[in-house]
Amino acid sequence: MMKQVQAMNLIRGRWHESASGKRFESLNPADTREVIGTAPWSGASDVDAAVRAAREAYPMWKAMSRVKRGELIDNLAQLIKRDLNALSELVTRECGKPINEGRADVVEALHMTQYVAGMARMPHGEIIDSEIAEKDAYILRKPKGVVACITPWNFPVAIPLWTILPSLLEGNTVVFKPSEDTPICGHALAELFVEAGFPPGVFNLVHGPGEDAGDPLVHHPEVDVVVFTGSYDVGRYIIQECAKLHKFAAVEMGGKNAVIVLDDANLDIALHAAILSAFKTSGQRCVSSNRIIIHEKLEPEFTPRFVELAQRINIGNGLREDTFMGPLINEQGVQKYLYHNQKAIEEGAEVLLPGGVLKEGEYQYGHFVAPFVYRMRHRADSFALKEEAFSPHVAIIPVSDIDEAIHVYNDTKYGLAMAVITEDYRKWRYVRDNCEFGVGYVNLPSIGAEVHLPFGGVKGSGNGHPSASALFDAVTHKVAFTVNHSTEIKMAQGLSAKIG
Ligand code: NAD
Repeated sequence: MMKQVQAMNLIRGRWHESASGKRFESLNPADTREVIGTAPWSGASDVDAAVRAAREAYPMWKAMSRVKRGELIDNLAQLIKRDLNALSELVTRECGKPINEGRADVVEALHMTQYVAGMARMPHGEIIDSEIAEKDAYILRKPKGVVACITPWNFPVAIPLWTILPSLLEGNTVVFKPSEDTPICGHALAELFVEAGFPPGVFNLVHGPGEDAGDPLVHHPEVDVVVFTGSYDVGRYIIQECAKLHKFAAVEMGGKNAVIVLDDANLDIALHAAILSAFKTSGQRCVSSNRIIIHEKLEPEFTPRFVELAQRINIGNGLREDTFMGPLINEQGVQKYLYHNQKAIEEGAEVLLPGGVLKEGEYQYGHFVAPFVYRMRHRADSFALKEEAFSPHVAIIPVSDIDEAIHVYNDTKYGLAMAVITEDYRKWRYVRDNCEFGVGYVNLPSIGAEVHLPFGGVKGSGNGHPSASALFDAVTHKVAFTVNHSTEIKMAQGLSAKIG
């Protein structure tokens, strides 16, 4: 067992306990006997101190050269590279995903850091002609102020940096609230921000549960922007609260994604894509697919092969290189999985793999479950086919043509990820143009992100402010700025400037 980490809040460059002195534990979901560490259980007064620190640091930080801010972000990139292995192992121990995925999480964080550091030297405004020859007109981006970054547990290193770094590069200061399921990853990131040399107050960290630490952060009057990634229910609540406070929120939420297999699909690609989409990260990616929507011509051949592959998946501790599927994050995740399975059965699912909780041998101290796979025709009133299960819960849904596939795909409140498997360029174009999604794939799984692409969803999956490279727009105002070079005032639209 490794040494337990005593995580702390980071406020104005100093490490703090919470005002209450209470702490909470972070357990290894593969073996809950292992306490990865403890973190301060923060409340409103801790949040207030962190936000005030961010507010005080804001004028200094936004006045600093953008290139200099980028250099500090480059320092951070060097440190992430140095600590890549240790961070990857921490991700696996704290959130359970296999080490190969833990590494990918950290590599994605590194890519984001490198990308944002590089953006410091890229143009970020526009020069545009005015109607008046003697005027110069510019479009500039200005920071919005203090940004609250509230993040989920499933990418505990990459997602925080997707949101924190564009905010900082643009001159905002940040208060970061990591998930209470992965506070030690949050703490590890904060240590790197300190080592990279960010001035005190520019980056602050407050730990704690959503209701106690996240909620006061959302409501704090000195927070200008809330950037949230997490579940639909919490995201929707945050948008509503921010609207009441006339505060901007950029939210990225869940999905009920699908792999759509059309009648001309290459079956090997379809199978491979479907297995990765359904079971990577044990189905706990926002872009995981709970649904395989497949043409009924291919379904009889596809389904037994899919079930056979799902049965062969290696389930176990993520630290073993040959593990494909680790545990679910916690007991709530297990209960959610069981509830979805039960609902599917009640709704008439034909169960092909019964799944269930694994409790024998190496599984006994972890939150391990097996793939649950069923066949079911689409029902507009289904819970199982329409709500995010966030676990290895997979429906195979036969359809009779491409239009039915598109209808079924769209018939949920979500719109995040869609993968279509076809050899026909006309068909994928038709699917692309008629399915509602933010991240689309052809002949690939529905999972996978690259930091220089926007990442986000529509409908119940997001409010139109994607993360990663697209977040720059959410944390800045576009400002028009016009300069007159004439000795007299001339107005656009022929407006008279004569007085009297
Ligand atoms: P969650 O919504 O339970 O928690 C996310 C964060 O919100 C946590 O830090 C939590 O403490 C905080 N929070 C909870 N209640 C709050 C409140 N009242 N006020 C302020 N903050 C509050 O989500 P989770 O279980 O950590 O993550 C899983 C969910 O995240 C899934 O639905 C998944 O699809 C989604 N997700 C979406 C994306 C995306 O980019 N669209 C990426 C990853 C995960």
